[in-house]
Amino acid sequence: MKLIALPAFSDNYIWLLHNNHHALVVDPGDSAPVLAWLAQHPDIELDLILVTHHHADHTGGLPELVARTGAQVAGPALEKMPVSVRGFQQGDTLNWQGLTLQVLDVPGHTLGHIAFWLHPADQTPLLFCGDTLFSGGCGRLFEGTPAQMLDSLDRLAALPCDTRICCAHEYTLSNLKFALAVDPLNLDLQNYAQTCLLLREQNQATLPALLSTERAINPFLRSRSPAVSFAVQQRDAQALDDVTCFAALRTWKNEF
Ligand code: ZN
Ligand code: FE
Repeated sequence: MKLIALPAFSDNYIWLLHNNHHALVVDPGDSAPVLAWLAQHPDIELDLILVTHHHADHTGGLPELVARTGAQVAGPALEKMPVSVRGFQQGDTLNWQGLTLQVLDVPGHTLGHIAFWLHPADQTPLLFCGDTLFSGGCGRLFEGTPAQMLDSLDRLAALPCDTRICCAHEYTLSNLKFALAVDPLNLDLQNYAQTCLLLREQNQATLPALLSTERAINPFLRSRSPAVSFAVQQRDAQALDDVTCFAALRTWKNEF
């Protein structure tokens, strides 16, 4: 299986996975980058589209892609989509090209947000998590509560640590600026920020990120750590329990 990040809009990635004959794409907010790629690869057929949540920058390309390719669409059971979709939720699985995709409910950014985890043979696993987990950060809470988002991130953090995290946005550098303000003495974070800066200077994606790295550097996966919870409590002395601390961390990022 080959994994490709197709850039879309200013900072989205449409992930594409293929085996030289069949391809799937994830969260096609725009059909144009996908159709251009397919035109360059006439032997590869798009037969599956995965959708993590209802926002337009993840669903805008669906009508045209479905009309042009006839691809099946697998999306969240609980959200409204611009095309007809087979609905999936926690515990459901989906088979594609000999792979089993596992669906997780990850409410927080939106209420019905789902993620897809899969383990291609002879490769490390992949997670398509939309706008839930970003490298160095997490999605804004548009619909869900801090408790829901913390629980969603906890379940993503419990996946195998060699999982490659395919987030839908290249937000890494701005997330890491905030992470360094929260957790300035974290050496792994300092090193990772240097690596990402170099990648972006060369116009390369910082993604996919490794879950093991995220566990070490992402303040939203580390909100219970002494370093992060202490930093949050310096700003908000009421942020004593896990959920309140996570909520205060998210508010801090919104205001950063
Ligand atoms: Zn979104
Ligand atoms: Fe988005």
